[in-house]
Amino acid sequence: MNNRFWLIFFVMFIITACGGGGGGSSYSGTSGGSISSTLSNLNPTNACKKAWYTSTFPDPSSTNTVFNNYSFFWQQSSFEAMPNCRNVYEATNAITDTGGVDWEDYVKEIVDYSKYTLGQIVPVNIFILGANPTSSVNATEKATYNTDFQTVQARVGSSYASDLANGDIFPIESAGGGYSFEAAPNGADIQLPQALVWGQSGFSNDNEKIQASFKIIAHEYFHVYQNSIKFYNEASKTISIPKTWQSNPNIVNNPSGDPAYFPWWIEEGGADFGAIVLSAKYANTKSGINVSTVINPVQQFEDHFKKAHELFAGDANLKLSSYNLPSSSTPDYAYQVGTAALLYAWYKDERNFNSAMTKYYTDWQEAELNRSGKGFEDAFEDAFWKNNTEYYTLDEFDTEFRTWIRAGDANNRWAIVAKTANQIIHANIEPSTPNTPNSTWKTIAVSAAAKVIDNGGVNKYFIDGIQQKTLVVKAGSNYKFSHGSTHPIRFSTTADGTHGGGVAYTPGVTVISDTEVSITVPNSSTTKTLYYYCANHPGMGGKIKIVEQTSSGSNPGEGGGGGGGGSY
Ligand SMILES: [Zn+2]
Repeated sequence: MNNRFWLIFFVMFIITACGGGGGGSSYSGTSGGSISSTLSNLNPTNACKKAWYTSTFPDPSSTNTVFNNYSFFWQQSSFEAMPNCRNVYEATNAITDTGGVDWEDYVKEIVDYSKYTLGQIVPVNIFILGANPTSSVNATEKATYNTDFQTVQARVGSSYASDLANGDIFPIESAGGGYSFEAAPNGADIQLPQALVWGQSGFSNDNEKIQASFKIIAHEYFHVYQNSIKFYNEASKTISIPKTWQSNPNIVNNPSGDPAYFPWWIEEGGADFGAIVLSAKYANTKSGINVSTVINPVQQFEDHFKKAHELFAGDANLKLSSYNLPSSSTPDYAYQVGTAALLYAWYKDERNFNSAMTKYYTDWQEAELNRSGKGFEDAFEDAFWKNNTEYYTLDEFDTEFRTWIRAGDANNRWAIVAKTANQIIHANIEPSTPNTPNSTWKTIAVSAAAKVIDNGGVNKYFIDGIQQKTLVVKAGSNYKFSHGSTHPIRFSTTADGTHGGGVAYTPGVTVISDTEVSITVPNSSTTKTLYYYCANHPGMGGKIKIVEQTSSGSNPGEGGGGGGGGSY
């Protein structure tokens, strides 16, 4: 084996294990930046398995003391058009009867569901790999896969050609996913070896395979999400990459002290926490899959929590920060410990659910800019509530969590933080980027049914299977809602609209029929939230968060424009 093989293997190990916060070890700096004006987009149609860049990073669009800020070609794409490519090699669909859906399609559905729940700012190539072990690999497929993978995931810059020529990373021995800063110009990747996902052995029935497979698929997508959104500057919409990483990539993968971006227990515990949530939410939309018995998110959380309890109860010196970096021993319990810690945070404050799903990662770039090297700490303090008015420092949280989890037996502690399946399925996620497709892509189907969580009221609206789901939409875009004729959807700047003492918001709203309504969302610096509500019944609706405003003025229609609420 030549050196190149080991280098690539190392890159894969990192991507596999951590989701590609870093990856690689010999990025050669910003060479060639000066020629960016001559760079052409090599993949203007956002085709799958195709690179946008090869031999050089583009020039940063701006720079500051900490980051080079990039605007890559594919950032011209809308949220709706951001690709999730599904590239299949030698995979079979031996298990095809579950819910009547092929497993390759489950991959696509789970990834798309996650996209429409979290938002997505980078293109993703998903590689579904069949043959395992190596001896059964078809040589042609192997060569094709290696070429395709390296085409989009080789380190952009002077290493690109040699990575492309020498990459040999098939078969993959574990699932992986992420967004590597060295391949950042070409988007993210997910690796799903069939033998380790739906083809895995060791389970007593298909339900166990489904539970594990859904979680793995969602876990790898979550790595893409957390590791791409961490680079994102929401204000400038740039992908911001630390200069120190570019000049010394080793500090990302082999930090000698603090983690370079997230503590490992958040990286992996966060991905498992997110995956259990996302797989339960997705499964809830599928007929034929009983979320409580098949996905059983409560049991998945309990298993992780009790393992963490066992570890902390058994070692008085253990801290969360003991899991700040990947473990050199196997298994690595950062997954369980991190999940347990985030469950504790959720128990402490409902808002911390969203902190665990998106806000911590969203806040990292801004925190890192303010205090380089401490983004992992300061983003935590930006995101996680300690009580009604104060946030935790990471150290405070670590101390409180480890004291608390040791203060009772496993069942006692678990009973305090446990959530029901419905609480998990219906917990609201509010990402910082759009998560709702516009009308050209999808009509938002809204159903009304009896409430499953929360108090008060009778029927509630459900969107994507989520009770009173918060929608995150793009300012100025068009959205169409379909609804039952007895529960007409209207909009308001006041929660619950006319039932909440407000009026209907009418600018840009068209009542198409008694079962459809559309809205052109205001592009206004002052109207950043609307609420959807039922014109006939109180308490059914939810929130619409408006992001990506391009107008600095207020919407001319707001304020007095909303008369006649409930009159149509
Ligand atoms: Zn992971």
